[in-house]
Amino acid sequence: MKVDVVTIFPDYLAPLDLSLIGKARGTGILELAVHDLRRWTHDVHRTVDDTPYGGGPGMVMRPEPWGAALDSLATPDTHLIVPSPAGAPFTQAQARALSGDSHLLFACGRYEGIDQRVIDHAATRMRVSEVSLGDYVLFGGEVAVLVVLEAVTRLLPGVLGNADSLVEESHAAGVLEAPMYTKPPTWRGLDVPDVLRSGDHGKIARWRREEGLRRTAQRRPDLLEGAGFQVPGVDVAK
Ligand code: SAM
Repeated sequence: MKVDVVTIFPDYLAPLDLSLIGKARGTGILELAVHDLRRWTHDVHRTVDDTPYGGGPGMVMRPEPWGAALDSLATPDTHLIVPSPAGAPFTQAQARALSGDSHLLFACGRYEGIDQRVIDHAATRMRVSEVSLGDYVLFGGEVAVLVVLEAVTRLLPGVLGNADSLVEESHAAGVLEAPMYTKPPTWRGLDVPDVLRSGDHGKIARWRREEGLRRTAQRRPDLLEGAGFQVPGVDVAK
């Protein structure tokens, strides 16, 4: 997968050299480049923003540098991702869909955001998705890029050592994962549930399924609504 990120703070994306994303870049699974938007400015101050039409506080990112950046980086296969608190909430399902794309181009807004015409014009020649991390406002889109790329990269074939990790984890099947334990069997007076040490794989799978459902019903009943799940001892409808 090819990924381009355009930002006025390229250093913000330094963590993309680390851990499994860094490794995916090293092995060629992910071909990633971070670009400074100011590269596409032509004035001495390398201006990227201006006052908003209609008045109001803050500054808006001017369309010209963004237009030139997209002209230079986009291809017919590009999927433009624009982080925005006004976008659709980012989900695991969307991460999975994006992991099938061949080219993701991220446009990181700052200030009061990017002039809307950039997004409207891009939508006439490529796929565009405005994506929100949640119902709160960040300084800029860079953190959203780190989140989206981490969720997408771990779904790319060959990135995780054990692809089975992806099968039962939270949100993969619409429910949360059951609690996990490792050694020692007793820690500070707290025991690992007996069933997990029983060696009975059928029983363990059933326990995990039920605990996952119980947790989902307690913490995120919205995930179960309308899905017709039965959770022993928990009224999902409540
Ligand atoms: N004026 C905008 C509004 O009220 O919708 C907020 C602009 S915000 C200060 C600057 C940039 O941060 C946005 O253009 C976007 O790239 C990013 N951003 C802020 N909150 C975000 C969120 N919840 N999800 C994704 N990106 C976000």
